[in-house]
Amino acid sequence: MSTDANDIPARPQAAPSTGASGTGRVDPLAFAQALIRCPSVTPEEGGALDWLEARLAGAGFRCHRLPFSAPGTPDVDNLFARIGAGAPHLCFAGHTDVVPPGDERAWTHPPFAAEVADGVLFGRGAVDMKGAIACFLAATLRHLAQCPEGVPKGSISFLITGDEEGPAINGTAKVLDWMAREGEIPDHCLVGEPTNPKALGEEIKIGRRGSLRAELTLTGRQGHVAYPHLARNPIPAMLAILDAFLAEPLDAGSAHFDPSHLEITSIDVGNRTANVIPAEVRAAIAIRYNDRHRRADLETMLREKARQALQTVEGGDGLAMDLRFTGHGDAFLTTPGRFADTLAEAVQAVTGRVPALTTSGGTSDARFIRKHCPVIEFGLVNETIHAVDERTPVTDLAALTDIYARFLDGYFAAFSEGRPASPPSSAISAG
Ligand SMILES: [Zn+2]
Repeated sequence: MSTDANDIPARPQAAPSTGASGTGRVDPLAFAQALIRCPSVTPEEGGALDWLEARLAGAGFRCHRLPFSAPGTPDVDNLFARIGAGAPHLCFAGHTDVVPPGDERAWTHPPFAAEVADGVLFGRGAVDMKGAIACFLAATLRHLAQCPEGVPKGSISFLITGDEEGPAINGTAKVLDWMAREGEIPDHCLVGEPTNPKALGEEIKIGRRGSLRAELTLTGRQGHVAYPHLARNPIPAMLAILDAFLAEPLDAGSAHFDPSHLEITSIDVGNRTANVIPAEVRAAIAIRYNDRHRRADLETMLREKARQALQTVEGGDGLAMDLRFTGHGDAFLTTPGRFADTLAEAVQAVTGRVPALTTSGGTSDARFIRKHCPVIEFGLVNETIHAVDERTPVTDLAALTDIYARFLDGYFAAFSEGRPASPPSSAISAG
């Protein structure tokens, strides 16, 4: 059983006073199927942005396609679309690009066919995150159908990138730069990443941890195990350094964050010979950290621990140490308040669940948006993201559309007319 996504009207039926009568044709399932059928594996646009732009333009949005390029990375297309001119300005942010399907034969239903079986929609991007884009589009069309002249009390915009799953260089960050130049920065942003572990309504993300990777290389001198005094084995020193990294927890957590965590993800020597002392050992370390740290402080602390540990090992001063860091940026938090409350109320009204306001999980493009405005995240259930047979119950698409529609109503009621369009800047704290 599958629904055909063709001939969906772009514009909601005009039914200003009874929006519900216009909702029959605004079907988030059909929207999600149309998007999944666009094979938009990063960096391919795959027709997904074209499809979305046509729907938004048909509803009266002003649309801008924003292709960006940079040396050493593929060109990527992006879309910014806005309806309305004034405040409050709510932006929905997301991505139409998807990760590759992997072995397509392992899928129960082809990854780009968007088939529905037993009430479940299968396809790459069903939850990460074409499903949420479909729901937000459906909710927006429903909301606009209730607005006089089909225009909201302030503004609604879509910031949709094709470069979230890739290097994220030609995507959201550059669109935000463009938006800043054009005066299009919103007052608030909702990212539609899948945030729920098991059931719709469990979690709203109000921040994200920082992410830091370290690559540690120790170089000594190769030699014969029978003549160790002629060689310099770097492995004991590596063990001492890693032991020092793990000796104490980084912290005990903070008000809205779990404890920071350091994980050793690899130790490599590559030595297949039993009688050779190797010259080099490498280790990789991944750290997810909360708002009690900043990247520069963490780097300084790890360098100092490594230096001290090296001194405790015999011959350690004869080894060359190279410690390099790469990172995704510090932790951030959008302090709970009226914005998150408005979404939480909508979630509870539709699902009966009181969502937890959390900061766990991986990074998302919210890390770029938080530099410009308060940002929170809520979407589908994330159990099958990036997996074979990525899927979502069709009922979740309907419920998420209801949540987003209620949120739009609540947002414009809470932030229009005499109320401040934006909370004070202290509402965003970068940890
Ligand atoms: Zn995603």
